[in-house]
Amino acid sequence: MKTGDRGRVDLDSEECKGCGLCVEACPPKVLALASHLNRYGYHPATYSGEGCTGCGICYFACPEPGAIVVWRLKAEARPVAQAA
Ligand code: SF4
Ligand code: SF4
Repeated sequence: MKTGDRGRVDLDSEECKGCGLCVEACPPKVLALASHLNRYGYHPATYSGEGCTGCGICYFACPEPGAIVVWRLKAEARPVAQAA
């Protein structure tokens, strides 16, 4: 995960059926289908590791319960103004 990312996505490769719907739906295109196969013979979705916004679109696009969990991260506390 990169500092400043607003979200994180956890993918369970053994629940994934490799349909690619999440890959197509992700706005910043941070998901891809792996070249390897899971134990059911599907290419599972993988996360690039950075750039997730926590939007949740992949979660709602996925037909497999339990394949995707999306985390929204709290914004870092930043000062809105600095004292002179
Ligand atoms: S939560 Fe949004 S940005 Fe993150 S992987 Fe899913 S669709 Fe992409
Ligand atoms: S939408 Fe779900 S089942 Fe389809 S590739 Fe993505 S994680 Fe796998």
